[in-house]
Amino acid sequence: KRKPSRKGSMADMPGSMVEEIKRLEQLFTVDTQKLKAITDHFISELDKGLSKEGGSIPMNPTWCMGFPTGYETGTFLALDMGGTNLRVCEINLPEEKGEFDIIQSKYRMPEELKTGNADELWGYVADCLQQFIEYHHEGEKLDKLPLGFTFSYPATQEYIDHGVLQRWTKGFDIDGVEGKDVVPPFEAALEERGVPIKLTALINDTTGTLIASAYTDSEMKIGCIFGTGCNAAYMETCGNVGKLAHMNLDPDAEIAINCEWGAFDNEHKILPRTPYDVIIDKDSPRPGQQAFEKMIAGLYLGELFRLVLVDLHEQGHVKMFEGQDISALKKPYSLDASFLSQVEEDAFENLAQTHDLFEKELNITPKRPELELIRRLAELIGTRSARLSACGVAAICKKKGYKTAHVGADGSVFNKYPHFKVRGAQALKEILDWESGRDGKPLKEGTYPIEIMPAEDGSGVGAALIAALTLKRVQEGNT
Ligand code: BGC
Ligand code: MG
Repeated sequence: KRKPSRKGSMADMPGSMVEEIKRLEQLFTVDTQKLKAITDHFISELDKGLSKEGGSIPMNPTWCMGFPTGYETGTFLALDMGGTNLRVCEINLPEEKGEFDIIQSKYRMPEELKTGNADELWGYVADCLQQFIEYHHEGEKLDKLPLGFTFSYPATQEYIDHGVLQRWTKGFDIDGVEGKDVVPPFEAALEERGVPIKLTALINDTTGTLIASAYTDSEMKIGCIFGTGCNAAYMETCGNVGKLAHMNLDPDAEIAINCEWGAFDNEHKILPRTPYDVIIDKDSPRPGQQAFEKMIAGLYLGELFRLVLVDLHEQGHVKMFEGQDISALKKPYSLDASFLSQVEEDAFENLAQTHDLFEKELNITPKRPELELIRRLAELIGTRSARLSACGVAAICKKKGYKTAHVGADGSVFNKYPHFKVRGAQALKEILDWESGRDGKPLKEGTYPIEIMPAEDGSGVGAALIAALTLKRVQEGNT
């Protein structure tokens, strides 16, 4: 077996390969003008979502009414039903400002459950909670513990302890849950097992992220998740929420809005979709939904990459992987975002790690020009994700008139994908035309007027805080 040569550059590439890279660059690059146009359209769609008529971005009121003071207290359970793990936490909020202690256990979220049936799902979730309580509170006689349940899917909430699932996202496809309140079957499963828990608040991961981050940083204005899925929450004044007008709320009161911005541009008016984005959508369990999310979120990055490579092999004019058996590459969703991360982290001089990854995972031996195309493609997909993500953040900031802000971000793509943070910051700078930093001096990292930074644990601490804020509100009689 021949290792790819250490030398070589675009200059040694066959012309067709150079052409192909140019074509991919055109397809996947989003320039400053386009970012600005997307951001402006985004603002109008956020507004539409808040109106009585509604739009395609759900803009769900969460009934989380305002920021924490930092002095919340008590002991709470938190349940995080994410895409890959199920996490149970017990959080203690002591008297000291902005402090917390947390213990937690992680359980695997079996792949079959995601497309199984509702009873199995709630049964499994309740079993995990029961195990947690038995382990950490063995032999204790317990009053019902208050729980903040992070359910990271779009839900319509009339009360904070209820939520009707609008639709599954992130590849989940469990029958009989959409269109229904998820709380009664969840509580029934707990009841059946005699688990001493009372659901106090059903929350979204973005709302949790916003509140957890604001607990320790008063400049926090937005909570974002850039992970398997992608979304944000921010604080709105009730007077701006047209669809709540009939409720006669105090117009100056604050309410966290879970944007569900993954649904941005479901009507395909502005996003620069490629033929590969169209295939991802068509072959997904919910075609026509989550147009924005499908172009940027972790679940889809590896799949986009895979679809391009299969296409380049099949259409033949670049002779990608010519004569090789690409059956492993043909398996849908066989590459995840961490595969792309590894390609982007590789040293460009030899791309040896990429070469080995392709051999080990896919049984394909790429040649040097192919390795270069692969690397460039990963960069293009990763960069597009970060730049489009920035449009959502910029849209909320522009809409709310934030000139400076902290934005708390969490999720596997934000935390692990190489260069995501820098690329996102660069895009924000282009969209918002910054010339100088917070300190008035030339822009440099750490001085950006609006900074996207790692968040506190939203689905743990955030869920506990929202449960605490809810109980306090109930005690004060403001429900
Ligand atoms: C869900 C959101 C969630 C986001 C990040 C999306 O698919 O619809 O509710 O906040 O993923 O987890
Ligand atoms: Mg999560």
